[in-house]
Amino acid sequence: MKVCKFGGSSLADAGQVIKVCDIIASDSSRRIVVVSAPGKRFSDDIKVTDLLIACANKRLSGEDTKDALALIVERFAGMAADLNLDNKIVDEIAANLKTCVDADISDPERFMCGMKAAGEDNSARLVAAALSSRGIPASYLNPADGGLLLSEEHGNAQILPESYVNLAKIAEYDDITVFPGFFGYTKGGDIVTFPRGGSDITGAVLSAAVNAELYENFTDVDSVLCADPGIVDDPAPVAELTFREMRELSYAGFGVLHDEAIQPAVGAGIHICIRNTNNPSAPGTLVLPERKYKSGHIVGIASSAGFSTIYVRKYLLNREIGFGRRLLQIFEEEGVSYEHTPSGIDDMSVIVKANNLSVKQEECIITRIKDELKVDDVEIEHGLALIMIVGEGMHYSIGLTAKVVGALADRGVNIEMINQGSSEISIMFGVKEADRKSAVQAIYGAFFS
Ligand code: ASP
Repeated sequence: MKVCKFGGSSLADAGQVIKVCDIIASDSSRRIVVVSAPGKRFSDDIKVTDLLIACANKRLSGEDTKDALALIVERFAGMAADLNLDNKIVDEIAANLKTCVDADISDPERFMCGMKAAGEDNSARLVAAALSSRGIPASYLNPADGGLLLSEEHGNAQILPESYVNLAKIAEYDDITVFPGFFGYTKGGDIVTFPRGGSDITGAVLSAAVNAELYENFTDVDSVLCADPGIVDDPAPVAELTFREMRELSYAGFGVLHDEAIQPAVGAGIHICIRNTNNPSAPGTLVLPERKYKSGHIVGIASSAGFSTIYVRKYLLNREIGFGRRLLQIFEEEGVSYEHTPSGIDDMSVIVKANNLSVKQEECIITRIKDELKVDDVEIEHGLALIMIVGEGMHYSIGLTAKVVGALADRGVNIEMINQGSSEISIMFGVKEADRKSAVQAIYGAFFS
């Protein structure tokens, strides 16, 4: 049994849904289909999830939602019409969307989750109807009926372990199950969503629950590429990655698979195949527990912008027991999650995502560091980009960092920070955002050209 997840671009319009139906029909082991909400049809189109968020914000600020809601109903109705589906399905979708918009707003986060989830929920209804209309027996399954239970973290939920036991029964169903991605329910019965892009997580969880032979994650590229094609011309495709490599790359900026989708698959030893809905015969990229690798080889270069560094210096910091804990405790108490903490003898930096740090939190953290930790200096710097090079072949490989540093020096890129994880499968370089692209190009040139 295979679990197939289709992303937003694979479901953006009726033509794409037909491709999905053909992919399911072409392999009888494709028994569980996890769907995203319809994505962009062209580059400046708006994803259904973003339309839902805009509509929810209107409701929350007391504005009229009629037009915003009509736009969303129209997206689904247009697809249903192009697929020659019965009007019944459009009525069902329109009624569901209306119920979501009219829901109680006393808890705005709960309301927002209900709205965001409606994209995937109705996409699943539509795909189940499309499959059935083409003679492929398929049924929509609501995550509440499937037993997908999540923590009460709105927009950032995590899977509760009992979900795996509950969801295992889907393996017994006669029909193909069409399951909406991105959301589940709390034990109290409220809808909660994963972080954005979280339908990948749903697919991984279902794969683990039914012990699938393969988790096929369909997107719009033939395979994972070793660098961002928007930065490097024609980057090399990657045939195989280990789970660890995929997680590092996803976390550091590869948009192809959500980084939190790896662990459920790893836990159950399920292999993942990333494939293209628009070219399903391409072999794709396999994500496996282990692979053969050559020493000194790297598999990918990821990069992302939008980081800030809080730099703290205090003489004899190395002898002060508990300093690191107290510093990080300030971040914890101010509700700011940190990404990395490179340190020296007398200094320590805390790197955070800039969009996780409001101006108020920033001021508060700086003041508290000065007052409570009695530091010699504290500075904040914005506009940092992180470049991550990843590969199992980096283990015990001598001269790898020298190669990167040399390539960056030749390009005139200043390295603000270096951090090597103790796993030795990744090294991170901090550079100014303005240098991000040339840094990736320089490293790519050194390793792949
Ligand atoms: N539709 C959601 C988003 O745009 C979730 C997903 O596509 O995985 O983030």
